[in-house]
Amino acid sequence: MTSLDDLPIRDDLRGQSPYGAPQKPVRIALNVNENTHPIPEVVVAHVTAAVEHALRTVNRYPDREFTTLREHLATYLGEGVEREQVWAANGSNEVIQQLLQAFGGPGRRVLGFPPTYSMHSIIASSTGTEWVTAERDDEFRLSPATAVAAVERLDPDIVFLCTPNNPTGTPIGLDTIEAVCAVARGIVIVDEAYAEFLPEGEPSALSLLPGRPRLVVSRTMSKAFAFAGARLGYLAADPAVVDALRLVRLPYHLSALTQAAAVAALQHAPLMLETVDAIRAQRDRLVVELAALGYAPHASGANFVLFGGVDDPQATFQYLLEHDILIRDIGLPGHLRVTAGTPEETTEFLEVLGRMNR
Ligand SMILES: *Cc1c(COP(=O)(O)O)cnc(C)c1O
Repeated sequence: MTSLDDLPIRDDLRGQSPYGAPQKPVRIALNVNENTHPIPEVVVAHVTAAVEHALRTVNRYPDREFTTLREHLATYLGEGVEREQVWAANGSNEVIQQLLQAFGGPGRRVLGFPPTYSMHSIIASSTGTEWVTAERDDEFRLSPATAVAAVERLDPDIVFLCTPNNPTGTPIGLDTIEAVCAVARGIVIVDEAYAEFLPEGEPSALSLLPGRPRLVVSRTMSKAFAFAGARLGYLAADPAVVDALRLVRLPYHLSALTQAAAVAALQHAPLMLETVDAIRAQRDRLVVELAALGYAPHASGANFVLFGGVDDPQATFQYLLEHDILIRDIGLPGHLRVTAGTPEETTEFLEVLGRMNR
């Protein structure tokens, strides 16, 4: 049997682990922060019709510039964002990979603030970019002073700011993002995958884009927008950043079917986001009820809750799995992360967890 070690793989990939959130067939999957509500039937019907229409010309390559989709994404984002400032790919993971291909690479350094989204360091590694880290403040917060000190000390080519942060749920203030942009000589990527779950009216880093050509805000249709399976992530930035990404993207990377599906879904944006309030309520309920069960949940601005006070995370994960409930062990000692699902899913998770012998 050939093993990976027998192959002439790149030296810097030896011993690395792939992204590996377990994908198990369970009744209640609260492990990868999807919107667990199915999309409305009227959207299913419209997306189906749009994909069917796109199939009639699928013998041809798709629009390489996905102009219509970018137009719709710009409208969805608002904040004065123009089509020329928008770029998209198969999930925001691919958007981030293209950013690191263009602005990172061998001899360059990317700064992150763990615990944070595991794909940031994995994409750093796969693009040959050095991953360097700095500490957060108490309760996983990131103050302007702490972030600026890290940027000045480590002088990165790229900085990742994830807000609300996965897996902690902690938002980062615009003051910190502004301060980092002011001192960083490189690209500042604000990963706003969970932006729609922030309190109503909370400003996004999109509002900081004017006059900051090295600031990039990445978003996704995978979380609040309930479109994870379609694979559509996007960013807003200066049009010059988009020009840089054209140098590294593969031609026609967004299929005609993906483009058609995403455009159709975006035309129902308010309906697609109708479950966000209900999910926020379940998130807040998780924080209250996990504390009542004796755990130590962290405040969250996203659609998941990180909770501490878990004596044996692996055993708790396993116990829940035996009851057909999948959550996430993110490898943080004493902690587990759970996605806010439907009221019924949340109830069952809390009841099963409450019955566990500990
Ligand atoms: C889930 C997630 C993403 C989204 O990935 P997609 O490739 O768009 O599905 C990006 N960033 C963070 C922090 C996430 O948690």
